[in-house]
Amino acid sequence: MSDAIIVLNAGSSSIKFSVFSVEGRALELVCRGQAEGLYTEARFTAKDLSGTVMDDTRWPEGESLGHDGALDHLVEFLGKHTSELKPLAIGHRVVHGGTEFTHPELLNAGVVKHLETLVPLAPLHQPHNLSPIRLLFERTPDLPQVACFDTAFHAEQPELAQWFALPRHYTDEGIRRYGFHGLSYEYIASVLPDHDRSAADGHAVVMHLGNGASMCAMNAGHSVASTMGFTAVEGLPMGTRCGSMDPGVVLYLIEQKGMTLREVERLIYKESGMLGLSGLSSDMRVLQESDDPAAAFAIEYYVYRIGRELGSMAAALGGLDSIVFTAGIGENAAAIRASVCQNAAWLGVELDAAANASGKPGLISTPESEVSVWVIPTNEELMIARHTLNLVAK
Ligand code: ADP
Repeated sequence: MSDAIIVLNAGSSSIKFSVFSVEGRALELVCRGQAEGLYTEARFTAKDLSGTVMDDTRWPEGESLGHDGALDHLVEFLGKHTSELKPLAIGHRVVHGGTEFTHPELLNAGVVKHLETLVPLAPLHQPHNLSPIRLLFERTPDLPQVACFDTAFHAEQPELAQWFALPRHYTDEGIRRYGFHGLSYEYIASVLPDHDRSAADGHAVVMHLGNGASMCAMNAGHSVASTMGFTAVEGLPMGTRCGSMDPGVVLYLIEQKGMTLREVERLIYKESGMLGLSGLSSDMRVLQESDDPAAAFAIEYYVYRIGRELGSMAAALGGLDSIVFTAGIGENAAAIRASVCQNAAWLGVELDAAANASGKPGLISTPESEVSVWVIPTNEELMIARHTLNLVAK
């Protein structure tokens, strides 16, 4: 019987999971899946390494499964399908570690309580990240649990990159730029040396372009700046989030249009970005396939904003040696990558069109390009599993 690490990523209506077997310090993915639609039409699916479906269970509409029910089903699934594995620990993705938790943390009641105080900093995510932790402490109290934070990788950014130009006491209270997608960036930083030693030792800009999107400027694998700040709404326009916007717009919406805080929240998190601009969809594939001029404008806007933020990231680094594309759009949307690289020609970027179109990860710039450009699939789950194993093996 070998040991296993279970990784959980709990959101408001879904719980994603991955199971890794442990051989010494090596981690091997065994299966992954998710429970989604937890409060509407719930569905639990799991696949093994080869993509074979191991479970596909649906619950009738109106029969809310909730986080509790989803965890029960997961425990049952693991008992049935991974009985040859002995769970060693559970690693959780937790969006916010505040200024206190700058490394993965072995959880206990005190730490969970502290993490609850950070809910106001990430009200849409943190409560959902914490609820499975509490439930699992009740059900499997002897199983160690580890929290890995999306903010931690950025904690060492210079103060200049972290502060807002507000009176100092606001910064002391925690109103500062934290940056997110840190587990994705940390994973990329960990594998970049395998691809290109000089890129890993130099100035790299990593673009995590998924439903949520951000960029991180890395100097020798360390975060020096990021486009996301106090919340995950700053920076690039995303699937449904607006990205950076003059804060005066929020004041105007409240004062002149009489919008409530909740309405503004819904607008900037759920109704803007690609969805708002196109009036069609938040999904890049739908926009790319559409012949609606508003869809084309949304894509053009997306690429334009990436170009402007890339200039800002390169300036924070004082130069640029490499660009890495990752996450759903970064890994799959060759046409977006091509447009981004074309706009970055002034930085010395020269795309290898054939390599970019090949659909394979790896180098997509020409040998002459002054900036090497890479497509590297991210793996936040593996990063969490590594951290979890490191902490429990100590
Ligand atoms: P999340 O941030 O939810 O983890 P992902 O990293 O999976 O999201 O990215 C989702 C985005 O990736 C969606 O906008 C989707 O349209 C886009 N995407 C996935 N595959 C492709 C593809 N082949 N071409 C263009 N966009 C794609």
